[in-house]
Parts: sequence; C-alpha cells; structure tokens
Amino acid sequence: MDADDAPTPPDATATAEPRIVLRPGPLEGAERRRVAIAAVAPVALVFVLFLPFVIWGAATLGAVAGGALVYGGMLALAAGFVMADREQGRQCPACLHRNPRKAPNCDGCSYDLAARPRFACQERHRVHLDPGMCACGRRLQQLPGSGGIGREIAVILKVGAWLLAFLVGMGLLFQYVG
Ligand SMILES: [Zn+2]
Ligand SMILES: [Zn+2]
Repeated sequence: MDADDAPTPPDATATAEPRIVLRPGPLEGAERRRVAIAAVAPVALVFVLFLPFVIWGAATLGAVAGGALVYGGMLALAAGFVMADREQGRQCPACLHRNPRKAPNCDGCSYDLAARPRFACQERHRVHLDPGMCACGRRLQQLPGSGGIGREIAVILKVGAWLLAFLVGMGLLFQYVG
C-alpha cells in the first residue's frame, strides 16, 4: 500500500568489481567474409600484375600462377591476419558488444574504446579494465596503452606492397631495355 517499501537499487557504480578483459568471440558471417576477401585478394592482385609478362612471352602462365601464390600468399596471410584483428577489435573487451569501427565508447557498457585503459597489479596477475583492487589485495595500476598488433603488421604489409610494386616495375623496365 505505501510506496516506501519498494527496494532501492544498489549503487552499482560505487561497489562494482573491476572488469577483466574478455576473449573476443568468434567472427560472424559478414566479418568472416571480409577476412576471407582480404586473405584472397592479394593473390588475385599479384596474378593480374604479373599477367603482362605472359602476354609478352617473358613468363609462362604456370610461372606467373606460382609467383602469385608465393608472393600474393605471403601478403594474403598478413592481410587476413590484420583484417581478423580489426574485426575482433570491434568487440568491446569489457562486454563483447560489437561496436562500429572507430567508435569512441562502447554502446553496451560505455567503455572507452579510443583510449582502452587497462589496469593490473604490480605482479600482473590479471589485466583489468577498471581501476580498483586485484584479487591478491594489491592496488591496480594503469598499464601503458597498446595500439594492438594489427597496426605493426599493417606497416609491414605496406612495405611488402611497395617491395612488390618495385619488383614489378623493375621487371617491366628490363622488359623494355631487353
Ligand atoms: Zn562494452
Ligand atoms: Zn594481483
């Protein structure tokens, strides 16, 4: 009869345990397709780039296909890895909600996706996403930010692409000179 009996919700923000990093879940259909395209496109691209050598009679189709598999395959492996890392990066590490690329905050739990703060005690028992106390009783300290492995591999990938363009360019040059 009187409204004062309604239970008051506990203050979740003040007493919440620091969240831990969750493993990203498996990729979904569209995400897997983007990874597959990234992992196949370089082979096709290298094949098309090398195709003029077959037309000019400088190489056989088999040699070009083999070259496309070797050079394109290496690029494809790296490209597929970068794409998978990016697709998994869209999943919030705190609640696994899938966010649009470059979203500043998680739609599900408002975790800061731009800065991605992480915390651990000095013994590094476990990486947490909120400041607070470790299970061992030590205070959690903020860890230096990480850009993710994908960024470094993307640089290597660009170097690889330039190297490939250089090789093709030199091949074309020798074709004209010879
Ligand atoms: Zn979230
Ligand atoms: Zn600890």
